[in-house]
Amino acid sequence: MSERFFPDGMPAPLADTITLPFWQAAAEHRLVVQRCTGCGHTRLPPAPVCPECRSADADWKQLSGRGEVYTYTVVHRPIAAGQQLPFVIAVITLEGAGGVRMISNVVGASPDELAIGLPVELVWEDMSTELAMPRFRLASR
Ligand SMILES: [Zn+2]
Repeated sequence: MSERFFPDGMPAPLADTITLPFWQAAAEHRLVVQRCTGCGHTRLPPAPVCPECRSADADWKQLSGRGEVYTYTVVHRPIAAGQQLPFVIAVITLEGAGGVRMISNVVGASPDELAIGLPVELVWEDMSTELAMPRFRLASR
């Protein structure tokens, strides 16, 4: 079991037929993005059709889990009971993902330590045996 960063009362995401492979990989602590097999365009969140070439054919590309802070905000009001404040919501540019960015949290760091462009690395938060959430922590350069 990985470290927990947010309380049990945090709303959990729901998988659907389009996003299920993403969540199944996440449960195995693999971060993946959907990749169009027609043109190679990567996308996150997953979608049924490629926005570049309209192909419905896609596979999943596993990422390194490294990235950098594209932008971020510091939250000072709780959205779930028991939540430790403040916390950071960040947009992370994912390495090897063709420019794809992911909204997540940077954990384990004071908001004062954050800056745009800092390198981050993936850390998994197991919400249950079937649900793991990708979070990020500051990485050494
Ligand atoms: Zn495409």
